[in-house]
Amino acid sequence: MDIPEKIRTAAREAERALAGEFERIDEISRTCTERVMDAFRENRVSEAMFAPSTGYGYGDYGRDAADAVAARVLGAEAAFCRSQLMSGTHTITVALFGLLRPGDVLIYATGTPYDTLRPVIGIGEKNGTGSLRDFGVDYDEAGLRPDGTVDTDALGGLLEKYGERVRVVAFQRSKGYAARRTLSAEEIGEACRFVKSRCPRAFTFVDNCYGEFTEEREPCSLGADLIAGSLIKNAGGGMADTGGYIAGARETVELCGYRLTSPGVGLEVGASLGQTRNILKGFFYAPHTVAQALKTAHLAAYLFEKAGYRVLPGPFETRYDIIQAIELGSGDALVNFCRGIQSASPVDAHVVPAPWAMPGYDDPVVMAAGAFVGGASIELSADGPMREPYTAFMQGGLTYESGRLGIMAALAFCTGENK
Ligand SMILES: *Cc1c(COP(=O)(O)O)cnc(C)c1O
Repeated sequence: MDIPEKIRTAAREAERALAGEFERIDEISRTCTERVMDAFRENRVSEAMFAPSTGYGYGDYGRDAADAVAARVLGAEAAFCRSQLMSGTHTITVALFGLLRPGDVLIYATGTPYDTLRPVIGIGEKNGTGSLRDFGVDYDEAGLRPDGTVDTDALGGLLEKYGERVRVVAFQRSKGYAARRTLSAEEIGEACRFVKSRCPRAFTFVDNCYGEFTEEREPCSLGADLIAGSLIKNAGGGMADTGGYIAGARETVELCGYRLTSPGVGLEVGASLGQTRNILKGFFYAPHTVAQALKTAHLAAYLFEKAGYRVLPGPFETRYDIIQAIELGSGDALVNFCRGIQSASPVDAHVVPAPWAMPGYDDPVVMAAGAFVGGASIELSADGPMREPYTAFMQGGLTYESGRLGIMAALAFCTGENK
């Protein structure tokens, strides 16, 4: 690869400086891996469970064991993970429609949610699409405080305003692609306990995307009633081909199961079609894979800050998700960053990213993605809208070794040293 010696040396220096961060990340991975191994042993995971079921999938005990493993690993009473959950958005849709009923109020306590969830809730949409609003579910939100913490005054005000009508209070753990802090599992747990003390009837829900295994504990074991996420992000460990998971209190998981299939049927059906092995292997790998992605993000923060760019979070900040934002300052630099990442991908390395108009975005977007699984963002990937301040959002890295090559290549492209 065309990486100048100067950048290779800088990366080795960065690794020496980041040794303490890397050690802390390894410790989290060791703790989470032990919990995964306990879950596998306790649920007697065995080879026969990997056999594909077809049709209704009645009595697929491999699928049921994978659900039990997911619950144990995520610190929940119950869970399900299914290849029939098509994306994070679909999974969260199932969760919200599972819990909410006409006349209920949904409150987001972390400001306006991730873009793809706005049409699900019915924010800024016309009626008639089948959004929660179409079904008579009202919505309100409390923004975070300027310091990025949950604004319990504003949230408390909304709980008082809607009273018994509040059915779900939702938290988005990761900043996603917004300029805000990511919340720790502990902070979310505390906020959930606050909601329960004011409004015992309400369920607390966490969009856990990008947060799984970045900390030793997940929001369920700290007070959240329900969490949901994607299996082509952290929780799939880079091994799941598709899918999502929902985990939490037994009652809430059961309601989501009725929404996924049919009331009365719930989680008794669903052919695994041979996906159980990849899903279980994904949970086995997830703590390790997430550690690889976290180290890659720290390295990117260190090298790009050193090269004079503004990075968020900083190289020595504790992380609660795997996303790294880098302000590149110009359209050329943003495109070059993505081209560098792409050039060091295992798949489609020969492809040259270019900015393009995308449905739902105001500005053209440039993306780098050379993944084994289509769109998987636990694999090294980056994208950014072509507007000031030309921020690249990058995440993932199945192995630290390949992730670091991607970061070095991106830096070489940005500084024009890639020839
Ligand atoms: C990725 C993401 C989603 C949506 O997941 P998709 O798989 O892209 O549909 C929702 N919320 C957050 C915070 C995310 O990062």
